[in-house]
Amino acid sequence: MLGKIEHIGIAVKDLEAANKLYEALLGVGPYKQEEVVSEGVATSFFQTGDSKVELLMATTPDSPMAKFIAKRGEGLHHLAFAVEDIDKEVQRLVEAGFQVLNEQPKLGADNKRIVFLHPKGAHGVLVELCQEIS
Ligand code: ZN
Repeated sequence: MLGKIEHIGIAVKDLEAANKLYEALLGVGPYKQEEVVSEGVATSFFQTGDSKVELLMATTPDSPMAKFIAKRGEGLHHLAFAVEDIDKEVQRLVEAGFQVLNEQPKLGADNKRIVFLHPKGAHGVLVELCQEIS
C-alpha cells in the first residue's frame, strides 16, 4: 500500500526564478536545495502543510529533465508517494503489471530511496515511490 503524497515534482527552466515565485506563493522559502549530479538536476524543496513541493531544473542538456522540458515545457513532472517498504511495493507493482523504470531503488534528493513508474502505465503521470532513509 502506498502512503500519502509526499511531494509533487514540478519541472522549471530557471530554478532561482521559480524559487522566488514559490516562496511568494507558499509564504515560505525552500528548506533545502540540492543537486543530484547522477540525474542531472538541481532541486529545491518547500514544505507546505503535510506535503512538499519539489522544483526541478535540468543541469545538463542531455538529462531526462532537459528532454522533458524540451518536449512538454514547464509544469507537473511527477507525483511522489511515500512508502514504508519500497522493495515490497516495487515487487507488488511489478506483479500487478506496472512498468517500473528502475526496479533497484536509487538515491534521490532529500534523503530518499526512490523508484519511478512509467507514465504510460499511469495515465500519463510519472509516479515516484519514495522511502525516507532512516
Ligand atoms: Zn521527487
